[in-house]
Amino acid sequence: MVKHHWQSHNVKQSGLDDMVLLSKISESSIVDNLKKRYMDDQIFTYIGPVLVSVNPFKQMTYFTDREVELYQGSAAYENPPHIYALADDMYRNMMIDMENQCVIISGESGAGKTVAAKFIMSYISKVSGGGDRVQHVKEIILKSNPLLEAFGNAKTVRNNNSSRFGKYFEIQFSRGGEPDGGKISNFLLEKSRVVFQNPNERNFHIFYQMLTGAPSELKEQLGTASPDYFYYLNQSGCYSVDGTNDAEEFSETMEAMQVIGLTPDEQHYVLQITASVLHIGNISFIENGNYAAVENQDYLAYPSYLLGVSQDALRQKLTSRVMDSKWGGKSESIDVTLNVEQASSTRDALAKALHSRLFDFLVQSVNTAIRKDYDEFNIGVLDIYGFEIFQRNGFEQFCINFVNEKLQQIFIELTLKAEQEEYVQEGIRWTPIDYFNNKIVCDLIESQAPVGVMCVLDDTCATMHAVNEGADQKFLGKLCGAVSSHEHFQSFSAGFIIHHYAGKVSYDVDNFCEKNKDVLFKDLVELMQQSEFDFIRSLFPENTNTQKRPTTASSKIKTQCNILVSTLMKCSPHYIRCIKPNESKKPHDWEESRVKHQVEYLGLKENVRVRRAGFAYRRPFHKFLQRYAILTPETWPRWHGDERQGIQHLMSCVNMDPDQWQCGKTKLFVKNPESLFLLEETRDRK
Ligand code: ATP
Ligand code: MG
Repeated sequence: MVKHHWQSHNVKQSGLDDMVLLSKISESSIVDNLKKRYMDDQIFTYIGPVLVSVNPFKQMTYFTDREVELYQGSAAYENPPHIYALADDMYRNMMIDMENQCVIISGESGAGKTVAAKFIMSYISKVSGGGDRVQHVKEIILKSNPLLEAFGNAKTVRNNNSSRFGKYFEIQFSRGGEPDGGKISNFLLEKSRVVFQNPNERNFHIFYQMLTGAPSELKEQLGTASPDYFYYLNQSGCYSVDGTNDAEEFSETMEAMQVIGLTPDEQHYVLQITASVLHIGNISFIENGNYAAVENQDYLAYPSYLLGVSQDALRQKLTSRVMDSKWGGKSESIDVTLNVEQASSTRDALAKALHSRLFDFLVQSVNTAIRKDYDEFNIGVLDIYGFEIFQRNGFEQFCINFVNEKLQQIFIELTLKAEQEEYVQEGIRWTPIDYFNNKIVCDLIESQAPVGVMCVLDDTCATMHAVNEGADQKFLGKLCGAVSSHEHFQSFSAGFIIHHYAGKVSYDVDNFCEKNKDVLFKDLVELMQQSEFDFIRSLFPENTNTQKRPTTASSKIKTQCNILVSTLMKCSPHYIRCIKPNESKKPHDWEESRVKHQVEYLGLKENVRVRRAGFAYRRPFHKFLQRYAILTPETWPRWHGDERQGIQHLMSCVNMDPDQWQCGKTKLFVKNPESLFLLEETRDRK
């Protein structure tokens, strides 16, 4: 079918669709171009194949079925830049080149990553066909969003629906291009939010949804009350979110549980545990001699009832801990009583564990519902929360920023470095372009030799006992000894500064060791294993008798992150760079300096420069011949003979300007994407 060059959103041309065509390449010309377009309601702009998206903070008109149809099967240049064009490109490349695709969506909190991820999923769902099973898979894929958002998103000062976990969603396809399976990998749920939120922020949505939306009989059973009754909700003084109806969303969450196949019993347990978390938070302690005692025994009733454990056992495990000690060569267990601070942190540890294990259970349930045992093709969508710089930054920010640093590294590897190295490898003439390679920062954090920050942290934790004050300072001391000469590192009395690709962040070392150890004390695991409910026992399957040292939080993240990186490196990558134009969350509000900063750290200028100086398109000879075989009788259905000659033949048949392309050792390089449009068009017309 030949598509016509109609414009989808009847608008005048605002600025440049593709910034590769900018006459002057500088950060400010990029910012100006984005601004012009943004003010004209054009939120999407290309840098070659990279899509830049600026959050409009209002509903745009161009996401209807009409656009879905328009972008389906058309070449990028035919229509204004759009996320549907990128989604369509991924889908078609997967089908034609038979290669896995992935899209890496990056940008700071509130820039529009999650919204973008949902556009991609819904576009793919709309353009792909399929029978009953496929429809079911599609429904689960779409419904998994409100479900995981209920348990993993929260209102923060920066975003009313901020993802507090990272997610890589692989949509799996049959050979016919029907989505018939999928897999979610989740990262780094911000557990600390369960027990504490900063002013003006909320806990995870589910708590408020349940308190307002649950039917009254259920509310009674769960002992719910208004949010200000619960310590885990009333510390921040924020209970509602503009434009969000928690009760309605509760129904949506429950419907999603239904769709992914949770039984009514399982659904009930999910809420029961959610309620138990809130009730646990209300258990407070007072000083009794040097020890902690539960302040008001009445508050033990609901949690013990909801968790299916005795009040005595619960009280005991919250106020004491069994420690192994060596005594005269013999090892024995002794009961150690906790002080108020320790008891409170034990209580919080239990609440965090319950919520995060419930979250993992939900992710697993989605995975079970759409599991496919053999892999054909997939499209992966990566939505991980963005770089964070606050006044005070702790272990969580350290982990998040590390992941972002790694993602930037992939971007550099694949678009800037690999692109240039390939020219050298393939023997293409080329003048190199300078850019900052953040590998040095990744190494500072994760390297083993010489030791990086994570290594020093793990070492400190390994030698630290369960209850140990001063460990954080010890960590800082060791760290300074190990990496102080690194050019991206500085230390100060309470912590250290890392100069990330996106800016300098100072981390406060308080609680780094405790959070890194991340062990749920054996006692709490044993307590949960005594529950009368199978469901709760099944959330705590670990064997508490092994001597093996549990993995630390940072090494877990490092491993997860490296698995992710190697998965991504095996796909054909696509990028969406999201930009947040203001802090007011209002449409048409443009804060120049904020945008400029993002343009800088997203490396957009380098991106334009490399793109422009080089060859926008490259394909191994055989893939190119395969894709355009239909254009000449000699290449159809396949070219026999030398591949280079085949390409020579194809290019001369379509009158491609010889300046526009070069053959390397194994690949064809084409300078300007426009010259390929011609090929695509001719191919479409055949
Ligand atoms: P976080 O890192 O905090 O999860 P995020 O980058 O995922 O942030 P989103 O939740 O996608 O940010 O977007 C924040 C809000 O901005 C959305 O809830 C929505 O109100 C608005 N928004 C984002 N993108 C769009 C869009 N394309 N059209 C309309 N509104 C948008
Ligand atoms: Mg998000």
